[in-house]
Amino acid sequence: MKVAIIPGDGIGKEVLPAALSVLDVFGLDIEKVPLEIGFGKWEKTGSAITDDDIALIRQCDCVLFGAITTVPDPNYKSVLVRMRKELDLYANIRPFTPLEKVKLPCAKKFDFVIVRENTEGMYSGVEELHEDVAYSTRIITRKGSTRIAEKACKIAKMRKKQLTIVHKANVLKSDSFFRDVCTGVAKKNDIRYNEMFVDAMAYDMILHPEKYDVIVTTNLFGDILSDEAAAMAGGLGLCPSANIGDKYALFEPIHGSAPDIAGKGIANPIAAILSVKMMLEWAGFNAEAKTIGQAVNNVLDNAIITPDLGGSYSTFDVSNAITKLIR
Ligand code: ATP
Repeated sequence: MKVAIIPGDGIGKEVLPAALSVLDVFGLDIEKVPLEIGFGKWEKTGSAITDDDIALIRQCDCVLFGAITTVPDPNYKSVLVRMRKELDLYANIRPFTPLEKVKLPCAKKFDFVIVRENTEGMYSGVEELHEDVAYSTRIITRKGSTRIAEKACKIAKMRKKQLTIVHKANVLKSDSFFRDVCTGVAKKNDIRYNEMFVDAMAYDMILHPEKYDVIVTTNLFGDILSDEAAAMAGGLGLCPSANIGDKYALFEPIHGSAPDIAGKGIANPIAAILSVKMMLEWAGFNAEAKTIGQAVNNVLDNAIITPDLGGSYSTFDVSNAITKLIR
C-alpha cells in the first residue's frame, strides 16, 4: 500500500509523526510518500497545494493527514476542501465512541457515527465576494445525496440499523430534496429511519445521545455537529475521521492545527493514532487496528495523558507508551 503523508501545519507536524511511530511498529509493507502542503508551503512558495501535489496523491492509495492552518488570503480556497473534491472523497465518517476511562461531560453512554456529505452543500466552493454582498451557493445533488445515504445505510447495517436524517427542510428547499433522497434510500435498504431538524438535533444530541446510531447529514451541518460530538466524547484530541471515496481515502484527526499549543510538544496524539487505526481497518489490517485500540485504552487506563485530558505527559510520552505496549 502507498500512503501520502501530509503533516501540514501546527500540531499536525507533531501528532502525525507520533501516529506514524505507532504504525511503524507493525512493520507492514507500506510505502510512505511525504508531501509538504499547507500554510508553511504557502509562506514559502505562494501556494498551499499544487497540481503536482494532487498528481502525486493520486498515485497513492490513501492519505494520512495532520492539520492545515487557514491561509490569511481572501482568495484562498481550503486545501482540504480541494482534496476532498479532487479525490471525490464524498463520505466523511466520524465515529463517536467514548474511550474507556475518559472523563466525559455527558453522563449518558453513547456510541454513534456521523456520516457527513463531504463534497458539496455549503462547501461547494461556488462563491462570490463583492463590495457590499457575498454569496455562497449551497448545492445538493441527487448523486451526492444518494451515495452518502447509501454509505450511511451500509454502516447502519453493520450496527443497530437505525438511521437519523438531519436537515433543515422546514426552511431550505435544498434540504427537503436531501431528506427525500435519504428517506428513499433508507426504505430501499430496509433501514429504520427518523428525521431531525439540525437545531433540534444539536440540542437532543446532548440530552439523549444514547438514542442515536448512524446520523447522516449535509456538509456544514455535519461539520458543526461533529465538533459538538467531539466535546461530548472527551475532546478534539481524541476523535479520528475518515474521508472515503470509491477510489481514494484520507484519514485525519478531526481537530485543526491548534496554533495556541503548537510547538510545545503537548498536543494529544490519540486522534491521529486512531486515524491510523481507521486507515488500517479500511485497508483490511483488522488485527493491527484492534491492537491499536487496545493499546490506546490501556494507556488511558494508566493515565498517561496530555494536558487537554488533565495530565502532564507530552505527545511523545503518549505515543511512546502506545508503541511500547504494542511491541
Ligand atoms: P485551525 O484554525 O487549524 O482549525 P483552531 O485552533 O481554530 O485551529 P483546533 O485546532 O481544532 O482549532 O483547536 C481548537 C481548540 O482545541 C484549541 O484550543 C486547541 O488547543 C485544542 N486542541 C485541538 N486539538 C488538540 C489536541 N490534539 N490536543 C490538545 N488540544 C487540542
